[in-house]
Amino acid sequence: MDAQTHAALRALPSVDAIVREECGRVALDEYMFTELVRIEVAATRAAILDGNPDAAVALGQRIEAAIALVVTNDVTTVINATGVIVHTNLGRSPVSKATADAMSRAAQNYVPLEVQLASAERGGRGADVGALLGLLTGAEASMAVNNNAAAILLALSALCQGKRVIVSRGEAVEIGGGFRIPDVMRQSGAQLVEVGTTNRTNLADYAAEIDDDTAAILSVHASNFAISGFTSKPQLAELADLAHERGILLIEDVGSGCLVETERYGLVHEPTLRESIEAGVDVVTASGDKLLGGPQAGLILGKQQALDLIRRHPFARAIRTDKTVQEGLAATLRHYARGEHEQAVPIWWMMSQRESELRERAERWQAALASPHCRVVSTRSVTGGGSLPGKSQPSAGIALQSDHISAAELARRLRTADLPVFPRVEDERVILDCRTVLPDQDEGLLNTVGGVLSGLVGS
Ligand SMILES: *Cc1c(COP(=O)(O)O)cnc(C)c1O
Repeated sequence: MDAQTHAALRALPSVDAIVREECGRVALDEYMFTELVRIEVAATRAAILDGNPDAAVALGQRIEAAIALVVTNDVTTVINATGVIVHTNLGRSPVSKATADAMSRAAQNYVPLEVQLASAERGGRGADVGALLGLLTGAEASMAVNNNAAAILLALSALCQGKRVIVSRGEAVEIGGGFRIPDVMRQSGAQLVEVGTTNRTNLADYAAEIDDDTAAILSVHASNFAISGFTSKPQLAELADLAHERGILLIEDVGSGCLVETERYGLVHEPTLRESIEAGVDVVTASGDKLLGGPQAGLILGKQQALDLIRRHPFARAIRTDKTVQEGLAATLRHYARGEHEQAVPIWWMMSQRESELRERAERWQAALASPHCRVVSTRSVTGGGSLPGKSQPSAGIALQSDHISAAELARRLRTADLPVFPRVEDERVILDCRTVLPDQDEGLLNTVGGVLSGLVGS
């Protein structure tokens, strides 16, 4: 150990000394406070030994942050002004008020999750979600699990273990966050058989690979990238016909769980769950928190017989959803069944905002801020979250710029304000896109932005 490290360790105050001095000041009992200080002193000691002799400078701050973690009752919420609607790093889709209320009520109460009210006999978890999904998509049967990655793992494990599964080379992809189709396939015990080429795969390519050991064709929606140009692949219905003629299953990972025609919003067509069911797909999997706009979940929809096998697989128990997610999904699905998703489901409210409305909002923001650093701009917002790759909608917002600090620093100040605002940085400008800011967030956004801009005066 060098002399500098040695001195830094000796200068580090003891746990006892800190507790004696500070304990009366904090709203924690002495035992909890001592534990907390012990952890932060140990982390600081480790940092010093790791070659950072100045680590003790931050000890006071670390202890304050650890105390704050315990005494706060607040959830840290942020304003999403990035223009990315389904923003994975910001928690994907915010849910509707009715969905949040349903989840909260379910969380705080007992609910008849697995029991029939009249007979007091055991009933199936998720009956409401199943009935609503049947109504909205035409699926014979369905179930919800933890997320789409779990859904596809379960479906492959239950239906294809030890068998071959045929996938187009252009679809053996990584969806993001380490979710790679070939890896998931291995984990499920199925054998991946790639056919065709990255850009072109035809029906005959699939047909040539089907043998007695083949359980299914798997189709994966390329949700986070687009291959354009010289491309071709069979229609889903053609794949379904081929699979059924040869006595195997067609499984589809459709990704976003869309129930709405996206072309109505000037976007490209995103495959809907109903289209997959109507095409004859046996098992479709999707996320609950992408274009469905609900809580995190994975949906598995399809034929009764396949769903019965999936439900009985041991993984199904390991990845099942709780009562709050079941009630949240049901509440979200009801919005679509009543045709009120544009008003009620936040992501569809965002998607349905017209450019002229967004520009008026941007002008109101600019007028309220009345700052030389701010002007109204045209921009483009994207759906995000692995849906509609490369497609965007025209939008409007404000651009912030200062001669004195960089756009990156301006963005950092917005993100670290009391009510954090996440902007997008583009060409050395900070852009705040109106489309992804929820209707009741204007005042909070203007407070944060106004505070940061007033800090620029004279700097
Ligand atoms: C997003 C996505 C997944 C992963 O879904 P999660 O709900 O995040 O687990 C899998 N497949 C496709 C095609 C996707 O778009």
